[in-house]
Amino acid sequence: MISLNEAVDLVLAAVRPVAAERVPLLEALGRTAAADVVSPEDVPSFDNSAMDGFAARGADLAGVARSDGLPIVVEIPAGSVAAEPLGPGDAARIMTGAPLPAGADTVVQAEHTEERDGRVFVRTAPAAGRNVRYAGEDVRRGDVVLPRGAALGPAELGLLASIGVEELAVARRPRVAILATGSELVPLGQPLGPGQIRNSNSFAAWGQTLAAGAEPVLLGIAPDDPDETRRLISRALDEDVTITSGGVSVGDYDFVKQIEAELGVERRFWGVATKPGKPFAFGVRDGRLVFGAPGNPVAAMVSFELYIRPALLALQGRRDIWRPWLTAAAAEPVKATRDRVEVRRCLLARDGRGDWRFTTTGPQGSGILRSMVLADGLVFVPSAHGGGRAGEYYLVMLLEGSRAERPPYPD
Ligand code: AMP
Ligand code: MG
Repeated sequence: MISLNEAVDLVLAAVRPVAAERVPLLEALGRTAAADVVSPEDVPSFDNSAMDGFAARGADLAGVARSDGLPIVVEIPAGSVAAEPLGPGDAARIMTGAPLPAGADTVVQAEHTEERDGRVFVRTAPAAGRNVRYAGEDVRRGDVVLPRGAALGPAELGLLASIGVEELAVARRPRVAILATGSELVPLGQPLGPGQIRNSNSFAAWGQTLAAGAEPVLLGIAPDDPDETRRLISRALDEDVTITSGGVSVGDYDFVKQIEAELGVERRFWGVATKPGKPFAFGVRDGRLVFGAPGNPVAAMVSFELYIRPALLALQGRRDIWRPWLTAAAAEPVKATRDRVEVRRCLLARDGRGDWRFTTTGPQGSGILRSMVLADGLVFVPSAHGGGRAGEYYLVMLLEGSRAERPPYPD
């Protein structure tokens, strides 16, 4: 048995990032930038008004409150350009986002003015240069706006559109073969016979794979028959990543590792000091990653979180491959396991002082999938730990879809 940290190191050390492909902007969501994105343009590309109001020379505005006001010589809506430069002592009615006319350097907002007989009277004059958004203030031409390895989310899509990017290089989606093993397994849509259970692992792994930006390839169920298992695993090994579930423990029918070895998979480890997730196997063939997840549904999902998700993101060259985590105090005494890190599913809440506290989700059996459905996070209880008292702090990794209360927005 190796440690959780050693297992993570061995998996990440085996990752060789996939190639890039170009995709249209709308297909880039959830993908990873495969190269630095350099802006071909300034954003904004011209000096423009940050307010609805009047553009003028700052020097003219300074004394204007006491004067007769400035004549309004032109109106500039957003999307149009003043035909002529603004003369000294003149004002332009200007809308937010409209280009500042040549000659003007300051905008006074409409709320600080009064208008009479075609002239604008300024109640409160802004300092020269105010209320202008300058060309290049957000992005300068030549700036690296997104580094290689950046995750492409909604804000990134907006930023890319703002610099005119219609398509870009992203990491290819790693293809992930998903194979369930076990003669007891029944596919969806078939009635359960005596002693049979439904294949749930393939569906959870499908979801976890897609959520990690990779492309799942479902290969169905391999019964506990060596020839059929060999046929399906050798098909799986065509893909960038193989995930089998079940058949990697010490039972009489657990021959996944043996078959993989015959098919040329080089074993990197088998057995990790975690609970659940101990019978986890990892190997490599021709640069492809081969994961043998435990059969128990929670153990399979937890193993995916611990090793496979980071690996899928690293394959895409992703910079940030980790889930957010925090430390939280136990709201109740915590059970520990000797020699293994307990990975328990937990609920998070804040105490009266706003500090995070966790409770476990109830029964923690490695087959109890509802613990994953309920969980906000995974809490890691160290092995050396004799059993913790309430109030002690533990590492909690947040899971996708953790619940939240309405935020206490400030007024
Ligand atoms: P194994 O490691 O093959 O002995 O499987 C451990 C446990 O997980 C057994 O109770 C299996 O029935 C169960 N199991 C294995 N594969 C799946 C699956 N794809 N979906 C649901 N349960 C499974
Ligand atoms: Mg089995």
